[in-house]
Amino acid sequence: MKDPKNILQNDVINPNTPVEEITDPVIKNMGIRLLVKREDLNHPFLSGNKWHKLKYNLVAASEDGFDTILTFGGAYSNNIYALAAAGKMFGFNTIGVIRGHESLPLNPTVSFAVDSGMRIYYLDKDSYRKRDSNSFVKTLKDKYGKFYLIPEGGTNSLGVKGASEIILNVTDNYDYVSCACGTGGTLAGIIIRLAGKAQVLGFSVLNDGNFLVEDVEKMVFQSSGCKYDNWDIILDYHFGGYAKINSELINFINRFEKINNIKIEPIYTGKLFYGIYELIRTGYFKRGETILTIHTGGLQGMLGMEPKIRKLLNGKNNN
Ligand SMILES: *Cc1c(COP(=O)(O)O)cnc(C)c1O
Repeated sequence: MKDPKNILQNDVINPNTPVEEITDPVIKNMGIRLLVKREDLNHPFLSGNKWHKLKYNLVAASEDGFDTILTFGGAYSNNIYALAAAGKMFGFNTIGVIRGHESLPLNPTVSFAVDSGMRIYYLDKDSYRKRDSNSFVKTLKDKYGKFYLIPEGGTNSLGVKGASEIILNVTDNYDYVSCACGTGGTLAGIIIRLAGKAQVLGFSVLNDGNFLVEDVEKMVFQSSGCKYDNWDIILDYHFGGYAKINSELINFINRFEKINNIKIEPIYTGKLFYGIYELIRTGYFKRGETILTIHTGGLQGMLGMEPKIRKLLNGKNNN
């Protein structure tokens, strides 16, 4: 199963997910064509941009003779979840280094990872910051033996290469492409694929997303040898930071899902679409323009967010 050919040419992950047009009157009335590349539909577990960021890493691990792959992430990480699924599907042992302490019962993300055969190593928040240091990687090697290491978020040059293929099969014309940004690896891939065509907007889901400008520029240059200026990072729609939410965001998501029949979540795609809607509403785009948004998946994270959302909405009702 671990044959690289089986990884890239598998028949379980849909390489031709649809592009759907948003028919919401709020958007239509502004004269904007809003398209969604439904990468959330590529696979139920190994979904969204995480499949693309993992795929060439899986191939490299296989070609270099690794049986075991290790990656990093928070307790609700889509990257941890996707690697666990990939390990089970393609026959790798997997290790997830998780930021923070074990919390029981296991949340749905970690529980899925463990059920898929992933071994979990918990790392307190201070040590997690030094996760890439040689001394910590050596500690892990002493414990687990040889492994192929994928950084947090699946973002390395092979991750960027894979991400660049997200828009490979899109045949619609568009003026803008946009996606949510955590590490910016997906955005970098899109910029490279477009090679100067159209405008690219990345929506930071972090409150300190300024670093993304430099990081994305670096990743684009390392992977393509080029510099482009047809892209921007939008910093206004993080809602206070990573996984921070408020009732306005949740109400937006509920309305969006009802009207468009597309599920989104509050950590990445909810903030992306909230931002896009706001930019459309405030006239950022010209009438007649087409915006392609990337639905990067991540819906598994919803399970873990539900208690927080219930608390938020209940609090609101009591006021
Ligand atoms: C990880 C993730 C992102 C962010 O991707 P980066 O390449 O790290 O910027 C966006 N959306 C979803 C759903 C994700 O899981």
